[in-house]
Amino acid sequence: MRKHIFNAGPCKLSDSLLKNTSEAVLDWNGMGQSILEVSHRGKEFQAVMDEAVSLMKEVLSIPEGYSVLFLGGGASMQFAMIAYNFMKSKAMYINTGTWSSKAIKEAKFWGEVLEVSSKDKDFTYYPKGYDVPNDMDYLHITTNNTIRGTEIFEDLDVNIPLIADMSSDFLSRPVDIAKYDMIYGGAQKNLGPAGVTFVIIKDSFMEEMVADRPIPTMLQYKTYADNGSMYNTPPVVNIFAVRETLKWVKAMGGVAAMEKIAKERADLLYSAIDESNMFVCPVVKEDRSLMNIVFVMKDEYKEKEADFVAFAAERNCVGIKGHRSVGGFRASTYNASTIEDVQALVQAMKDFEAKNA
Ligand code: PMP
Repeated sequence: MRKHIFNAGPCKLSDSLLKNTSEAVLDWNGMGQSILEVSHRGKEFQAVMDEAVSLMKEVLSIPEGYSVLFLGGGASMQFAMIAYNFMKSKAMYINTGTWSSKAIKEAKFWGEVLEVSSKDKDFTYYPKGYDVPNDMDYLHITTNNTIRGTEIFEDLDVNIPLIADMSSDFLSRPVDIAKYDMIYGGAQKNLGPAGVTFVIIKDSFMEEMVADRPIPTMLQYKTYADNGSMYNTPPVVNIFAVRETLKWVKAMGGVAAMEKIAKERADLLYSAIDESNMFVCPVVKEDRSLMNIVFVMKDEYKEKEADFVAFAAERNCVGIKGHRSVGGFRASTYNASTIEDVQALVQAMKDFEAKNA
């Protein structure tokens, strides 16, 4: 039986991805070779890469003038690459917690960082209403804070280049790509298995806004753009799996359909938390993530947190332990999560409360 998987990433993936990728691992297209055994330079894999790029453009309505790239190193490598390539002297960063803090750390190697943060309230809200000075090289945001469970749902209008880490809410809603100069993330949430990083970048930004410093070849975005993300050997099976995800999202009705289901799942779980006398969500209502639903036990029940994790696991709900840095619980409800998964968790919460409150 397939469990109700609430892991934060790597996380639950679509059944079609699992089936088609595992078949291709055993024998790809009846070629008598595994997808793990073929050359990345062959026409079969080239077709996969081309389709992954074109489906990404289609599913997200990416306008002309943008490149879709696949790289290694995870979103964490992007923290460094972005600043290395685009930070001339100063940039603005919105700090919503761990991941943006890590991005800021890398930026500080290359210049001054103007930081707007929600640290004053322990990252339980998404910063708003700040001014963006025109002399910044770019504004960097993290659209969804995977650990604290905050998310921004609008595409900002700013007068400087906008760069977004969308690692954990990519493909979960329609995005006005034209407002961004770059969007990036690790694949291992809504896009596929861990091991590949996606970048959507405006060509004019990539070509014209690079800082005047020597940049090693593999750290230049243009290297990936000019070589179809194959300057070096790409992670072949990961890109195959990414293509499977994109096919699945399209077949399910696209990102608008993903958003609708995400809202249904999140409403169900947040309502159960808000109605409970045992569980509570620390995040302000308007900024609550649709992807990572963070909650804790009220002080009087705190010592029962580990018991609830075990109780939920008996009901086949796995991966709900909060990030090690914050404790409590986090149910990650990415695109492949179903209403049934969330219903099972809500039932476990109700039953546990009935027994223990
Ligand atoms: N940004 C966000 C929002 C994340 O959630 C994560 C990983 N959970 C990262 C960056 C780091 O990604 P990676 O592990 O791919 O470097």
